[in-house]
Amino acid sequence: MGSGSAGDGTGIEAEPGKLSRSECCCSPEYSHRLRPRPPFFPSLRVQMDPVGVAAAPPEAGPGPAWQNKCPWGTPKTASISCSLADVMSEQLAKELQLEEENAAFPEVVAVAEGPFITGENVDTSSDLMLAQMLQMEFDREYDAQLRREEKKFNGDSKVSISFENYRKVHPFDSDSSEDEVDWQDTRHDPYRADKPTITPKKGFIGKGKDITTKHDEVVCGRKNTARMENFAPEFQVGDGIGMDLKLSNQVFNALKQHAYSEERRSARLHEKKEHSTAEKAVDPKTRLLLYKMVSGGMLETITGCISTGKESVVFHAYGGNATEDDKVIPPECAIKVFKTTLNEFKNRDKYIKDDYRFKDRFSKLNPRKIIRMWAEKEMHNLTRMQNAGIPCPQVVILKKHVLVMSFIGQDQVPAPKLKDVKLNSEDMKKAYYQVLDMMQQLYKECNLVHADLSEYNMLWHDGKVWLIDVSQSVEPTHPHGLEFLFRDCRNVSQFFQKGGVAEALNERELFNAVSGLNITAENEVDFQAEIEALEKMNEDHVQNHGKKVSTFSTDGDPPIYNE
Ligand code: ADP
Ligand code: MN
Repeated sequence: MGSGSAGDGTGIEAEPGKLSRSECCCSPEYSHRLRPRPPFFPSLRVQMDPVGVAAAPPEAGPGPAWQNKCPWGTPKTASISCSLADVMSEQLAKELQLEEENAAFPEVVAVAEGPFITGENVDTSSDLMLAQMLQMEFDREYDAQLRREEKKFNGDSKVSISFENYRKVHPFDSDSSEDEVDWQDTRHDPYRADKPTITPKKGFIGKGKDITTKHDEVVCGRKNTARMENFAPEFQVGDGIGMDLKLSNQVFNALKQHAYSEERRSARLHEKKEHSTAEKAVDPKTRLLLYKMVSGGMLETITGCISTGKESVVFHAYGGNATEDDKVIPPECAIKVFKTTLNEFKNRDKYIKDDYRFKDRFSKLNPRKIIRMWAEKEMHNLTRMQNAGIPCPQVVILKKHVLVMSFIGQDQVPAPKLKDVKLNSEDMKKAYYQVLDMMQQLYKECNLVHADLSEYNMLWHDGKVWLIDVSQSVEPTHPHGLEFLFRDCRNVSQFFQKGGVAEALNERELFNAVSGLNITAENEVDFQAEIEALEKMNEDHVQNHGKKVSTFSTDGDPPIYNE
């Protein structure tokens, strides 16, 4: 015990001015060396180790005076202020100011995420959003600056001071006193196995000065081992305490650094995970976009989330009174945010890749821009429908991947989907004929096939059916346009037939009724084959003539589609 290597007599190499707080705690004080050593951590012995108490020299009882002199007892604030004040003064000032601000506006920091994300809080104000965004920005800048300061301060020094505790977004801020932790209260008492009276006996043999230092080294080693307990719980430190392991300062500091960076890493990971699940499509950039819509007066408030799908998130908002291009903003708006996480959009390639309207642009675009294109496509398609008089949301504005349109519903309650509403047979029949009409209009007047038409994308509002979700809609001459139409017809036909509408056409009849084609195949397989043959014919025509015309149009000259 304590009789290992003779030690180098110094133990600690760092210059006093460069000691971190942990080093300070281990540094030998000369006053301690020169007079008979009082037992270390007397209060520990008194409170927790009866053996220690019995062995302790009586004159070395614990007391405030002793503790004041003891390096362990050095108040945390003192060491911080004298070693960091010069460098940190600006940061401290900022921090203090921020604290004041926080005290003055506690509700601003109390909200962890934008209320429009969860839809739980409907009292969103633009001030709140502004405050959150500024706070976020500020914290990030502050931490970045702090990191630079830390690097500059430490330079190449072997012993470094961590500014970790001053970070804004540090999850462990609340108990940031790792090095000052009152480990005497920890259950794992590193000194339990130690018999302090025995060690000094061995240690004291020989040269006077070295004895103490050697002892210090051992004690420091144990203390360092004990301190590992204060690393983040996720950080596995093993059973060093049970083994009476003695860690050198160098090893401990390296471990500490590692533990800290692990903490930070796991905090970052956690943060990321939370953001991706809680905020769905609303990344900070999107938030800024939404915020600008509110601050610009176009929207009054964003109240909550209506729907989160794989490819988009839809919010409800009250319209503001600022008019853009003399446009009147509807009293209630739906904001469709197309997701900027790209994975889900991969399987939509086939819709847009072959859409000649986007063909030239598609090849040149990065994925982010392609997502904007979905939003753009929805806007164009809605406008066409609007012009044809089909009940659908009216486009208010498109900004990047965010589409604002009129809200179908009332008082924040969106109109129910056709699949969710229980219609009486009369309304059901009415709805069917209306849908048939709309499909024909869509095809003939808008030159569009919905391509995702079903009871999920039809809303029942004001006693009629409204079509929504047309970002994937294509023109009939799209290489797969007729297949998409046939699928739409199948959905619609099945829904109304199951819903008891006796007059509802079957899918093939409906297809012919909508497209004006006259495919006579009796069964589905043949019907499908004829559709594909028509598509192929049209594609060949495009190849030969270089422009998109419909060869399968039945009435008169094939229309030339140019947009
Ligand atoms: P997705 O691609 O996620 O299906 P949708 O455009 O279908 O996107 O919107 C998802 C849901 O959001 C719809 O089912 C509907 O309930 C609601 N919604 C979308 N647009 C509006 C709107 N303009 N008014 C009211 N509710 C809407
Ligand atoms: Mn939908």
